[in-house]
Amino acid sequence: MVDRADTCAKKDGRKAMWNRELETLDRSSLEKLQMKKLEKTLESALRTRYYSRVFSDHGIDVARFRSIKDIAALPFTAKDDLRLSYPDGMCAVPRAEVVRMHASSGTTGKSTVIFYTMKDINDWAELVARCMVASGATREDVFQNMMGYGLFTGGLGLHYGAERLGCMVIPSAAGNTLRQIQLMKDFGTTIIHITPSYALHLGDEVSAQGVDPRELAVRKAYLGAEPYSEATRDKIENQWGLDAYNSYGLSEMNGPGVAFECIEKRGMHVWEDYYYIEIIDPVSGRPLPDGDEGELVITHLNREAMPVIRYRTRDLTAVIPGPCPCGRSHRRIERIKGRTDDMLIIGGVNVFPSQIETVLMKVPEVGNNYQIVLDRRENLDRIHIKVELYSKMFRGDLKELDNLKSRLARELQALIVVTPRIELLEPGSLEPSTGKAVRVIDSRKI
Ligand code: ADP
Ligand code: ZN
Repeated sequence: MVDRADTCAKKDGRKAMWNRELETLDRSSLEKLQMKKLEKTLESALRTRYYSRVFSDHGIDVARFRSIKDIAALPFTAKDDLRLSYPDGMCAVPRAEVVRMHASSGTTGKSTVIFYTMKDINDWAELVARCMVASGATREDVFQNMMGYGLFTGGLGLHYGAERLGCMVIPSAAGNTLRQIQLMKDFGTTIIHITPSYALHLGDEVSAQGVDPRELAVRKAYLGAEPYSEATRDKIENQWGLDAYNSYGLSEMNGPGVAFECIEKRGMHVWEDYYYIEIIDPVSGRPLPDGDEGELVITHLNREAMPVIRYRTRDLTAVIPGPCPCGRSHRRIERIKGRTDDMLIIGGVNVFPSQIETVLMKVPEVGNNYQIVLDRRENLDRIHIKVELYSKMFRGDLKELDNLKSRLARELQALIVVTPRIELLEPGSLEPSTGKAVRVIDSRKI
């Protein structure tokens, strides 16, 4: 197989890129390319029952679009629109052209279904190969894919990209921790793809077997599928002795491969020749400038089977202004803070679980799992945080534990105002997650 990842890069000292021409395209050519692709996307959208109705309801004349910015005239697409179009109201090609379907995990309700032609699957693999090369992966790597295979896009999405790059892929899927460890040891796995919550748990399990995770050959982790804090990244990097790269994607936009960190690890590049991104105020829907935090809206510019236009992801982030030292021209987004619908209102104060996580994970005594439980008593919100500690903490004296409890309560109270009840637990007390972790139990809603 030809090594496509910029074979010349090594000779002149440049960092490798999978598709240097497209990844470094100047901004004006990139916008022109986006416009060309938008025209095609709109044509195919008109072939779907959903968009042909929406465009005619809104009196949209796609022939009058001149620049990519004109996209603002189109209405947003919401997750509910995909749900209402179930099963195939948004499919733009005859059934015989479709080679695969996936569905979202259904974190927030009925899952949505996505269709792909053979070209869509190929293009997706290209994007994932770009992501992997951006993180420094090569065909020498052994890639153990610990994400769920099946309808969930996490497993198969990275799988085909890693094969395209030429890695040896171990499709171990999520769970079965002992086998994961055996495979990592026996085959010298160098890259793992895993949810951050499972990475922490797996690291503990490796240690429990008397092996220091840092002594394994694993050098990179691709972490995604759920929000997590910078403090959690640091923790995983220290636990495993590796570089962790943030990977963002969502089924509605293929799955993983939408945005990914390069070796600079300073925000995720969005592949703008495939995705047109906007940041909007989640309440008013108005556009926000680069640097401001808001809801990410994405238009897929390159899909045959299922065009999705101005999709409201509900994910909160900001575009990072300015170029990246890696030389890629595609803009970067910040770590996802959470979904607009993840926001907790506790005693009238808005807080995201990721903010609570940041406080917890910065405390060195805190172990690898936690849970937030909310309830309401006499009209007052109460928050109860269960925190696993490292086992060495339970060998010390009780006073130390009491001090830690007060310290955590104090630090969290500064964030959430309501005084949290802290419960310190031994490692392994909470149900470990192998996929997307459920961090919050909000019994106020029951
Ligand atoms: P569902 O929407 O049902 O969870 P998906 O499996 O498509 O289905 O999940 C996509 C969502 O997962 C994204 O919209 C985002 O909320 C979350 N996500 C994916 N990657 C990341 C990441 N790196 N950081 C934070 N959240 C992420
Ligand atoms: Zn970069």
